[in-house]
Amino acid sequence: MTWRLVAALALMAAIPSRRAEGPPAAPPPNVILVVADDLGWGDLAAYGHPTIRTPHLDRMAAEGQRWTTFYAAAPYCTPSRAGLLTGRLPVRSGMASEVRTVLYADSKGGLPASEVTIADLLKGRGYATAHIGKWHLGHLPAYLPQRHGFDLYFGIPYSNDMDAVPDSPDTRIEHPKSEYFNVPVYRDGAVVERPARQETITRRYVEESLRFIRANRNRPFFLYLAHTMPHVPLFAGEGFAGRSPRGAYGDVVEEIDGGMGQLLETLAETGLDRRTLVIFTSDNGPWRGQHGLGGSAGPLRDGKGTTFEGGVRVPALFWWPGTVAPGVVREMGSLLDVLPTLAAVAGVPLPAGRVLDGYDLSPVLRGGGPSPRRTYFYYRSATLQAVRSGPYKLHFLTRPDGNDEPPRRVDPPWLFDLDQDPGEQYDVAAERPAIVAELRRLAAEHRRAVVPVEDQIAKR
Ligand code: MG
Repeated sequence: MTWRLVAALALMAAIPSRRAEGPPAAPPPNVILVVADDLGWGDLAAYGHPTIRTPHLDRMAAEGQRWTTFYAAAPYCTPSRAGLLTGRLPVRSGMASEVRTVLYADSKGGLPASEVTIADLLKGRGYATAHIGKWHLGHLPAYLPQRHGFDLYFGIPYSNDMDAVPDSPDTRIEHPKSEYFNVPVYRDGAVVERPARQETITRRYVEESLRFIRANRNRPFFLYLAHTMPHVPLFAGEGFAGRSPRGAYGDVVEEIDGGMGQLLETLAETGLDRRTLVIFTSDNGPWRGQHGLGGSAGPLRDGKGTTFEGGVRVPALFWWPGTVAPGVVREMGSLLDVLPTLAAVAGVPLPAGRVLDGYDLSPVLRGGGPSPRRTYFYYRSATLQAVRSGPYKLHFLTRPDGNDEPPRRVDPPWLFDLDQDPGEQYDVAAERPAIVAELRRLAAEHRRAVVPVEDQIAKR
């Protein structure tokens, strides 16, 4: 028997089993979802900031997609993160409240176990899952990340300005020290540090992330890295503190950018860069009025806590060399769309038996057409304040001068054409009565379809 015959027989023997099994399925891609806290639309160089230096995020924007019209799920931390992880408006899970805006250190509620998170979905597909950073979806044991599909957790359970020590100085935001804030650091289910050493927390989140990536290089992984910064109080680490022309705020954004550089470098080193989708975004707009220590929404009006564009429109970068088609996307997307998009990318079915508010953006990421999102519903807490369809946005309720004012009814409602007027300066309602009527109808239809559930944020 010649070696040719041996080879031919071996090949013939192999054919039936190959036919039966089909070609080996490509493993699903890794996913790294990075969320900054209170980072404004205008705070990255790639979005036009004149003095903050963000070369690594700019590289992601150049090599991937930079979305200009991407909406958070809410203008505050807790509801926005609930919307991100579930693909559902926070009002549907009880994670939006008229009693309190977010969860605090004395809160007793959290994201209900009945909600299905991105981590639950991907874990079911064999992903290793980790949450590193700020959780803010409930710090009692029933609500921690490991109850929501994450294998690992390292980070703080709520915002870094909470749990202020009673006799800490009134100037604790302008001149912060870690010991003024009794914020714990959790590793999995246990508190391992208190108060959190905030000067080093950004660096430590990145180190934990790199370790997780390297440990899981041979299987699909999902890393949800939610930075504590640039939410005030601002703490920058060695090599960044005191360096940015933008001051302390610039220092912390530049440190986050430096961490993105390390993540991208590690993906290249481990050969995972063409098998990993990296997303970078923010949970809500800039917190204005924090002694000049909050961020910038660029040309957009107002900031955090409002349903003006500055409150909810956030930076959003998608990077996956060879798969994400590079470019600028000016159509709408939202944090609500991340779950359906990742489900499509990983090949898992959407959670059943519930209303989802997100759309699968993966065809847009691959360069295949217009965004399926044509509308956005602007909630502040549990109340619908405005609605957008196409370029038009109708405001029913607003906070005319920002975060700390009580909301007031806008009657007659304001209509803005956001393509023409992204800064929401020129009310065109009187000239477009048919569009006003259509947006009113859309809002009424939406309100009727939202079923009230138990308020998780009010519990204390
Ligand atoms: Mg926030």
